[in-house]
Amino acid sequence: MLRRIDIRGQNLSTRQLLEVVPRAEIDIDAALETVRPILADVRARGEVALREYGDRFDSGSPANLRIAPADIESALATLDPAVRESLEEAIRRVRQFHEATVPPAVSVDLAPGARVSQRWVPVARVGLYVPGGLAVYPSSVVMNVVAAQAAGVTEIAVTTPPQKAFAGAPHPSILAACALLGVTEVYAVGGAQAIGMLAYGATRTDGSVLCDPVDVITGPGNVYVAAAKRAVNGTVGIDSEAGPTEIAVIADDSANPGFIAYDLLSQAEHDPMAGSVLITDSAELAEAVGERLASIVGVTKHDVRAKEALGGVQSAIILTDNLEQSIRVADAYGAEHLEIHTRDAAAVAGRIRNAGAIFVGPYSPVPLGDYMAGSNHVLPTGGTARFASGLGVTSFLRAVSVIEYDEAALAQVGHKVIALANAEDLPAHGEAIAARLSPTSD
Ligand code: NAD
Repeated sequence: MLRRIDIRGQNLSTRQLLEVVPRAEIDIDAALETVRPILADVRARGEVALREYGDRFDSGSPANLRIAPADIESALATLDPAVRESLEEAIRRVRQFHEATVPPAVSVDLAPGARVSQRWVPVARVGLYVPGGLAVYPSSVVMNVVAAQAAGVTEIAVTTPPQKAFAGAPHPSILAACALLGVTEVYAVGGAQAIGMLAYGATRTDGSVLCDPVDVITGPGNVYVAAAKRAVNGTVGIDSEAGPTEIAVIADDSANPGFIAYDLLSQAEHDPMAGSVLITDSAELAEAVGERLASIVGVTKHDVRAKEALGGVQSAIILTDNLEQSIRVADAYGAEHLEIHTRDAAAVAGRIRNAGAIFVGPYSPVPLGDYMAGSNHVLPTGGTARFASGLGVTSFLRAVSVIEYDEAALAQVGHKVIALANAEDLPAHGEAIAARLSPTSD
């Protein structure tokens, strides 16, 4: 089922490795052509366009695209107690970890009277996308909302696709998760149209405001959601491009093939475009994982999309010469999720440069991170882990520098500022300094 990419005996350069690692056929670049007209239409026609796309892609929208607070609260009353307890535990762990990662303010005295500080300021208003096409993700409500709250954001809007089974309203588990977290602004709008609504704001047919524009949009989604976020980046801020999910596993001959097969399948059930990649220097392990996967994929609930994902070009078993080469392949791939199933897994994890999140050893599987580990599950995909981080408190914070020099401190370096200003042929810069240094100036 998983195709083989055998690079044994080839001493591939980094550039060559980038060419052999498996990638999806439809990438975000290609999806941009689909989403740009949707975004422009939402910007121009507001609610009318949102409803039309809801009808086209999600089988209809509810009477009111913004969900009444009473409906959010009543969804919590109907939530299965076991699910509620699990969500509360996830919220507790994610909150504890995220609050601990808020960066401290820094203040440095560079000379007497010369202080430069940096403080972290949350954005005012955020829009959080919660996916809901093929599966529903109350866990993504937790990941987005808790990170924003830990950063100190006070105005939070959540948007998620309308669900046919609930007359176009969001799935009750999404609303219940919002209620648990105190979120009262929720929209039944999905896909690129939701990203347009958050970026540009939208008015109702009667001219009243449906949704105010936000400062930052975060959250995972399919390739259309990820492409729409890329398109509005600059109008608003975004987190990483968290598109169709990926798992890569580095394994050696000490690994448990059953664990790996289940973990590869767990991500394949998200989306036919999901990527599952095993990187190993053990041909025996590759064989054993392939066999286990073939036996469990036939009996899994979402077998159709899982088979499509595992059989797609974005999934593969990559056979390497040794652990060194496996690490180089993993860095070239830059997985959203990277599991390490090797001897001394922690040491191997310490050598990885490019991954959204690293799961160390056989008892830290990706599904733990999807829900309960405490880390965030909104992570960069498509190789963007090379330069992007997963969702976290800093996705909602800006570092603001504060400069405070007194007269003597300015005088100490004033002539050097003037020299540099003159060197750049910007004499007015120098004059602004000289005016303060000259005793006759007023
Ligand atoms: P989704 O909410 O992301 O997408 C559904 C929306 O896609 C629909 O509302 C519709 O408007 C739009 N859409 C569907 N087909 C379209 C088309 N042909 N043209 C334009 N728009 C179209 O829900 P989903 O589809 O279930 O996808 C969820 C995704 O989120 C999965 O790929 C999953 O792997 C991913 N995910 C990623 C992370 C991460 O951190 N990277 C985390 C969780 C989930």
